[in-house]
Amino acid sequence: AAKKQGLGKYAFFQQGMHTHIVHIMRMESDLRKAFERNELCIYYQPIIALEKQHTVGLEALIRWQHPQRGLISPDEFIPLAEETGLIQELGRWVFSTACVQLYQWQQRYPQHANLGININVSPIQFKQPRLVREIQDIIERAGISPRSCRLEITESAMMYNPEETLKTLQELKELEVQLYIDDFGTGYSSLSYLQKFPIDALKIDKSFIRDLENDPRSHQIAQAIIALGEAFNLKTIAEGVETQQQLSILKMAGCHHVQGFLFSRPRPLSDIEQYLCAETKYDII
Ligand code: C2E
Ligand code: MG
Ligand code: MG
Ligand code: MG
Repeated sequence: AAKKQGLGKYAFFQQGMHTHIVHIMRMESDLRKAFERNELCIYYQPIIALEKQHTVGLEALIRWQHPQRGLISPDEFIPLAEETGLIQELGRWVFSTACVQLYQWQQRYPQHANLGININVSPIQFKQPRLVREIQDIIERAGISPRSCRLEITESAMMYNPEETLKTLQELKELEVQLYIDDFGTGYSSLSYLQKFPIDALKIDKSFIRDLENDPRSHQIAQAIIALGEAFNLKTIAEGVETQQQLSILKMAGCHHVQGFLFSRPRPLSDIEQYLCAETKYDII
């Protein structure tokens, strides 16, 4: 009987695997078609300087406008795009669309002449030797200053192969783009590499910001990251800021920039243009 039960379990497991694989295969082919049909779009979320409370940049965040399922979050389909290799094409598309967009905003809104664009680079893209050339081409064609382009690379992607990372980061830095470590605090950074890498900023992971008020350890970690930034002369950006209390804690700790629902959710193109339009240079948000 035990044997029978075991077999049954195995068959059930196989059945589950099969369903899972079919689901993934369908999503994969859907995603490729979605890309071709322009169902992918970019939302933009403001990043605000704490001191003067003005928008210093926008993070480009991809969305999938699915005809049946509605808006699908990147956490659901970026891993698929990475598995299939579609991420290369998709990443290039996000990059060039966002850079061209930034150029237009800088031209159109005088109060935003120095606006920056933050773009997420997948670990798969980061490993590609041609990444640097592609980024250089896109920036040149868009006509923006490389300094207004901020690449967000996760801590774990950087630490996967630190020696290679160092070379890539140095090449990118020669382009004069800005280099940000995303989701900082969730990976395993070696402090000696942090010192060697030519990076400009640390984005404090939103898990620490969420628990800032109630969990003393998160509070201490956030403070430690800000202190680390000061020691290494790096900007610190808090992501996921939702409350006034979190904001005042971050202000006291000396964090430079903030991003989160408290200021604005990620917005589609027309919404973000309204937002940019409404902000004059000396506005207090
Ligand atoms: P991320 O780069 O860490 O982006 C920050 C995430 O936090 C975004 O989720 C944003 O919507 C969310 N967020 C911002 N403020 C708040 C807040 O106050 N509260 C909460 N709860 N969340 C907030 P989103 O847009 O779902 O993106 C998830 C992840 O998908 C991103 O994390 C990034 O790793 C990836 N991603 C998004 N767009 C791209 C892309 O174009 N290329 C690549 N390779 N990855 C992307
Ligand atoms: Mg990011
Ligand atoms: Mg992040
Ligand atoms: Mg993230």
